[in-house]
Amino acid sequence: MLELEGVGAGYGQFQALFDLSMRVEAGEAVAVIGANGAGKTTLLRVISGMLPARAGTIVMEGVDLKATPPHRIIETGIAHVPESRRLFPRLTVEDNLRMGAFTKAARDRFRERLDYVYELFPRLRERRQQLAGTMSGGEQQMCAIARALMSGPKLVLLDEPSMGLAPVIVRQVFDLVRRIRAEGYTVLIVEQNVRQVLAVADRAYLLEVGRIEAQGTSAELLASDEVQRSYMGL
Ligand code: ATP
Repeated sequence: MLELEGVGAGYGQFQALFDLSMRVEAGEAVAVIGANGAGKTTLLRVISGMLPARAGTIVMEGVDLKATPPHRIIETGIAHVPESRRLFPRLTVEDNLRMGAFTKAARDRFRERLDYVYELFPRLRERRQQLAGTMSGGEQQMCAIARALMSGPKLVLLDEPSMGLAPVIVRQVFDLVRRIRAEGYTVLIVEQNVRQVLAVADRAYLLEVGRIEAQGTSAELLASDEVQRSYMGL
């Protein structure tokens, strides 16, 4: 579904990603794990067109994303749930969801999509008139994921959905990831919460200082020396 080959990216003089190659097949949940500053957020920003790639190719179902203007990338079926959720705190839950349906195709099916996400996340229906900024962290993450689903995507990019949440809420957030997975969405998720994300993902890549240092099935990565040493405290 999505294939990156030799991708490089950075900010000014600083290079954040080096010669990065990876792929995500339809129906998979793929994790990218790595420490602070490894380049995980940068990777998702490059895929969704928020940051231009300086080298390499990025292809989504045959479409060259490097040649696609950023605002059209969503039309290829990619939805990005950014770090820190980035909701509009002073808008209601429903108005936040409306913001997710900004392509023409999504606007035309707004009611249908809204019913669909409310079925999937009944809590949001209950809270639809509440200001997003007054919800709990876990509810805000649910709202951010639902907003991404409003565009009717095929591939959902999740940037550290567990960040800043209490352990019990983190578990609920990973349950949300399992739920959207079960709905048939393909998921690419970046996380520092290694053990829990590997329990959800089929395959994973380990990113270190902008380079992929290891890859494999989640079970393989969990057992690998690199992950054991750096992330499991062994
Ligand atoms: P974190 O978990 O802390 O978000 P990350 O793995 O997502 O880490 P990135 O946010 O992708 O890492 O950052 C990768 C590198 O790029 C870091 O060294 C960071 O300081 C740098 N960087 C990120 N954004 C910018 C920016 N706008 N300008 C300059 N450098 C940046």
